[in-house]
Amino acid sequence: MSGAEEPNAKRSPNMTEVKFTKIFINNEWRDSVSGKTFPNINPCTGDLLCDVAEGDKADVDIAVKAAREAFKLDSPWRSMDASDRGLLISKLADLIERDAEYIAHLETLDNGKPVKDARGDVGLSVKCYRYYAGWCDKIQGKTIPIDGDFFCYTRHEPIGVVGQIIPWNFPLLMQAWKLAPALCCGNTIVMKPAEQTPLSALYIGSLCAEAGFPTGVVNIVPGYGPTAGAAISEHYDVDKVAFTGSTEVGHIIMQAAGKTNLKNVTLELGGKSPNIIFADADLDHAVETAHFALFFNQGQCCCAGSRTFVEESIYDEFVRRSVERARKRKVGDPLADESEQGPQVDQVQFTKILDLIDSGKKEGAKLECGGKRHGDKGFFIQPTVFSGVEDDMRIAKEEIFGPVMQIMKFKTIEEVIDRANKTVYGLAASVFTKDIDKALRVAHAVRAGSMWVNTYDVFRCNAPFGGFKMSGVGRELGEYGLQQYSEIKTVAIKVTKKNS
Ligand code: ADP
Repeated sequence: MSGAEEPNAKRSPNMTEVKFTKIFINNEWRDSVSGKTFPNINPCTGDLLCDVAEGDKADVDIAVKAAREAFKLDSPWRSMDASDRGLLISKLADLIERDAEYIAHLETLDNGKPVKDARGDVGLSVKCYRYYAGWCDKIQGKTIPIDGDFFCYTRHEPIGVVGQIIPWNFPLLMQAWKLAPALCCGNTIVMKPAEQTPLSALYIGSLCAEAGFPTGVVNIVPGYGPTAGAAISEHYDVDKVAFTGSTEVGHIIMQAAGKTNLKNVTLELGGKSPNIIFADADLDHAVETAHFALFFNQGQCCCAGSRTFVEESIYDEFVRRSVERARKRKVGDPLADESEQGPQVDQVQFTKILDLIDSGKKEGAKLECGGKRHGDKGFFIQPTVFSGVEDDMRIAKEEIFGPVMQIMKFKTIEEVIDRANKTVYGLAASVFTKDIDKALRVAHAVRAGSMWVNTYDVFRCNAPFGGFKMSGVGRELGEYGLQQYSEIKTVAIKVTKKNS
């Protein structure tokens, strides 16, 4: 088969068929209590892709009851050996791998991301499930030599019913980051996928049933944030809420927990990550990586390198090469293997990005390329580069979440560290230099949860990810991620020394 024919071969009707659109509770599919559905829009065309059951408070209540039942001490899930829990998660990973090509296509159809990127997300998700499958029977407490005649030890117990609210930019992967550690620790789950992208989450629900998870362990309720999402974060019988999304909604979630049962909260929120490029860096590599850092996933990454700081002496050349690279970026049908950039996820994001581009022009930044919609249908935006960006412009301060690069100029290391930290966010940062002293100085001074040196977007399931400041609370992934899904219990036993 020639390379040109391959993409079409992969677009067989099966690959783009939507199989599950209802609410998943107790390993069964159900309509919403209200009977309502919501439209799921194809971002490539703006047309209807399918209707999805619209869960709200009534459906969340049913899902929470199911999850609570599954969490009872004598339930199959709670009485299962930890190693068997690991086998179940491992089986889920195998099933995702079996259906990898279909899941990648479903993700592309729903989200608009290039299918080659969606394939990458499937691979990372499989690794994440396998990683946490391996942890199930290795979660251990400590024995502690407390004063007195006691035997004291700690147990790491599951928290209980966990609510998980996930975003639309990496639907499958964010589901894996939340589901895998929560299951690993033995919790039961009520998950709400983003209203823009519910399909891959629902498909994984079907695979959970196929893998053999007991009923009520994984429940998935599609619906809107202020209704279904709020019902989870305000629920008195949900023990924890884990959220990934905007900082604005992060505030709402934390307040909801505070106003109700003080449920445990973890948040992974927005960012405006600095990408600092010194004059001694490998310029070709820095230009290509800075391009990737911003444009990957249509710019829809919470950790996008969206403030590119470039040292004065190479600034003009860096801008020239970055513009050249952005102009070459292949925008088009995300199901075609050659596409580097698909549409933005929806009309709301599309309009917000164009509005921010407009503000950049009005505030005096120089529009070097792009700046408009691409094509005449769907939510495609031209790769856009601004130079001459000042720190107080909206495009330098606000999360754009689109294919819009801001390039700023700096003179000294002290100045750039100070400017990099002048943000409410602290999710990620990077530095490009051949000087190890400079690299370490920046790496340790910038207040961010992830720091990349001469690289960007390095995500591995065994290394933690999360934010400083208003970019979040808690860490996901790795051994650190287990802490977010377990309670520590201290057991002290009186030891009697008398001979009986
Ligand atoms: P974005 O602004 O990038 O669309 P959001 O933070 O609005 O991101 O959405 C992320 C997730 O949070 C989605 O699943 C969304 O439905 C949910 N969400 C939105 N508003 C609320 C809310 N008030 N309470 C709970 N969840 C919400």
